[in-house]
Amino acid sequence: MSASSLPHAIVREVGLRDGLLSIKTIVPTAQKLEWISAAYAAGQKEIEVGSFVPVRLLPQLADTAELVAHAKTLPGLVASVLVPNFKGAERAIELDADAMLIPVSASAAHSAANVRKTPDEMIASIAQIRAARDAAGSKTFIEVGMSTAFGCTIQGDVSEDEVIRLLRAALDAGAERVGLADTVGYADPAQVRRLFEKAFRALGTQSDKLTCGHFHDTRGLALANTLAALDVGVRRFDASLAGIGGCPHAPGASGNAATEDTVFMLERMGYDTGIDLDQLLALRKQIAEWLKGEQLGGAIWRAGVPKSSARATPPMASFSQQAPIR
Ligand code: ZN
Repeated sequence: MSASSLPHAIVREVGLRDGLLSIKTIVPTAQKLEWISAAYAAGQKEIEVGSFVPVRLLPQLADTAELVAHAKTLPGLVASVLVPNFKGAERAIELDADAMLIPVSASAAHSAANVRKTPDEMIASIAQIRAARDAAGSKTFIEVGMSTAFGCTIQGDVSEDEVIRLLRAALDAGAERVGLADTVGYADPAQVRRLFEKAFRALGTQSDKLTCGHFHDTRGLALANTLAALDVGVRRFDASLAGIGGCPHAPGASGNAATEDTVFMLERMGYDTGIDLDQLLALRKQIAEWLKGEQLGGAIWRAGVPKSSARATPPMASFSQQAPIR
């Protein structure tokens, strides 16, 4: 089978945003620029480069504008930024970021603690952001990440019906793509499969807009959850190189799904990620040096890539999620 005939899967790098959030070492802008360039050279075509939040709250992400500008010099790279509010969205539009990711927490308690808004107030701000984007004639794509979709450290269970109601509301408010995020690492594979399937069914003709799985390895299930989502047709996954991105509510816990392990699994299973694993591992080594003393995750870097070749042919999924960004 030639590479082009293989089914595609996208691994979006979120290490520069979600990953660095919980890292104490402030990574200099020059190193972040190098990270973006090297990840791009390794074949990563989607990178979340930062977030437009008040600098005093998150000094680690203060250079987001510079990173967006750099990412825009790399042809074909989709650079996204997290925007928690209207002000952040205005910045993303102004700087012509390719995509902005608006977090909507399915847990009312998490939403109040995180953005001091109810989930429905966040939905209202999506509509506002969409109107502003359209009025500006901007092409910045609007994606919503449904955080705490699988459970919440504050309120515990999160209702699946509420998750689906909010997904619908986000799309109705003008989001162009939605994803489900296991923000605190509570999800298990059966739950992932069930919630994605339920959501695909509920969204009907809009089901192709539910495309992303965002899993944390807090309890060691990120790859298992990735596989469960893959099985029901999800083809876009967020991941952090070296698995950085611990959880403030679970000290010592590992972070996001590790990019290198996710790429390894997908490629071994016969999916084309477009990413060169050797180059990715070289970059991981570099990042491990920059983040000396910080807790890193991932497994493939320890033992290396197996000598045997993959033979798998991916199974047909019950749903096919291939909606391009534009
Ligand atoms: Zn996350």
